Amino acid sequence: MTRSIASPNARIPGAAKRWRACLFMAAICMWAPQRAFAWGKSGHEIVAAIAKQSLSAPELAQAQALLDAANLPDLITVSTWADDYRATHAETFQWHFVDIPLSAPAFDQQRDCRVGATLPKELTCVVGKIEEFKSKLANKALPDAVRGQALAYLVHFVGDAHQPLHASNNNDRGGNDVPVSFYGQTQYVYNNKQYNLNLHYLWDTGIIARRYGEPIHPEQIAQALLGNISAETKKDGVPARRRTG
Ligand SMILES: [Zn+2]
Repeated sequence: MTRSIASPNARIPGAAKRWRACLFMAAICMWAPQRAFAWGKSGHEIVAAIAKQSLSAPELAQAQALLDAANLPDLITVSTWADDYRATHAETFQWHFVDIPLSAPAFDQQRDCRVGATLPKELTCVVGKIEEFKSKLANKALPDAVRGQALAYLVHFVGDAHQPLHASNNNDRGGNDVPVSFYGQTQYVYNNKQYNLNLHYLWDTGIIARRYGEPIHPEQIAQALLGNISAETKKDGVPARRRTG
């Protein structure tokens, strides 16, 4: 389905910035999908619900028009689309994380992620993809369908980037190789198969399920979390206590 919009979407880039602001604090508490599988639906939907509640009605309508043009669902439902797409498009696997060495003080683009069409795809990372899809979303010369798909990637990757195990490398496959015990639980079942509980799964899914139960109600949880995010943080994404000057 396609839908044209009367005045294309000049405010969306600013909206995307605000989403990052809101997501920053929320991302400290919960999270996203993992490398080997496609869990983390709850975390992504909560992130998207926070973004949705941070948009004005006109902004949300513009965002939805772009998603419609790309034949994609609403902002919350589409937040896991990139993981579903990855399942059949292995070339996008690397887009969902960045391997910053655990001992490194900060992200270094040359070391951790190099961006460019002429580079091998395995040198891309979530940081570069966020920049790429932000640019596409802001580019009104592109077809709405392309911008809608960029928005779908953006709402997903901002969530991924804030999951610490998607943004660090301790040579343990993002915590997938780290067995954990959580309230006495050491295993879980997925598709009738039993797996050892691991740190990545716990962060993505187990903690959220423990805190909120299942199924979750993303909009309610988002509303509660938004109450804990200061106006200042919403404005530029940096909590006051983290500012260095
Ligand atoms: Zn992902």
